[in-house]
Amino acid sequence: MVDRIAAGAQAPGFYRFKVGEIEVIALHEGVLVRDRPTGFVPNATHEEVGEAYAAAGMARDKLTITFNALAVRTAGRVVLIDTGLGEFGPPGTGQLLGNLAAAGIQPGEVSAVVISHFHADHILGVNRKDGQPTFPNAEIFVPAKEWDFWMDDAQMDAAPEAAKENFGLCRQVFGKLAETVRRYAWDEEFLPGLTSVRANGHTPGMSAIRITSAGETMMFVADITNNPLVFVRHPEWQAMFDMDPVETIATRKRILDMAAAEKLRVSFYHAPFPATGYIVKNSSGYEFLPALWHAD
Ligand SMILES: [Zn+2]
Repeated sequence: MVDRIAAGAQAPGFYRFKVGEIEVIALHEGVLVRDRPTGFVPNATHEEVGEAYAAAGMARDKLTITFNALAVRTAGRVVLIDTGLGEFGPPGTGQLLGNLAAAGIQPGEVSAVVISHFHADHILGVNRKDGQPTFPNAEIFVPAKEWDFWMDDAQMDAAPEAAKENFGLCRQVFGKLAETVRRYAWDEEFLPGLTSVRANGHTPGMSAIRITSAGETMMFVADITNNPLVFVRHPEWQAMFDMDPVETIATRKRILDMAAAEKLRVSFYHAPFPATGYIVKNSSGYEFLPALWHAD
């Protein structure tokens, strides 16, 4: 590892912090940069969106997406929140397992995998290409509402052609797990210190996760925004990945308001690594303030 880093590779992408007595580890899964499609934000012009990307230090005409999961050590267990693209993503992704190992955790030590919602970049890492589970000793927890929507054949049949692919992915990932998967409700403490928060809109059943220990709380906010450097500043903007635009915006504001009011540490799946910080409210919207990097 040291030789590799000396030869020009980056340091491993994991970052630990504490929430009360719980250890949380931010895990980098990768970055994708591609041309930003016209209409990526249907309720703003291509120029306005380019301006917002440039104002946040990113390429004006590109879509820059970063992916970051969390591992949580609580009550003697290792819980992984979202799994990345696993062996199925494009180059630049699929780094989660390497970074988990660099943090000293082998896949067999993960005793629970918590899924926030059923989009490919969150679920494909559940299994390997050979069909075997990536985390062989893990119980899989999914939002009940998400399961009810995506695993319903009537919903699949009624979906527009472009949306059918994701229904297929859900069957590929979860088909064998119907008997064993744990479906958690909103507002349920389904693991010690982990409580789900309704975050629907981006998908019908998306859940944020409150992580609480010894009087401290943080929140994993999943995909209430795509890149928060753009969408926290422009909370009214929809992204083409948001299935119910109106509900997406209502959820985003409710959760950002909660984070600002409670001064909660938040982690975004699509923020720049280590993807964790705080939300403040200002006259035009909100600002995402990265948390200070602590070396200890
Ligand atoms: Zn995502």
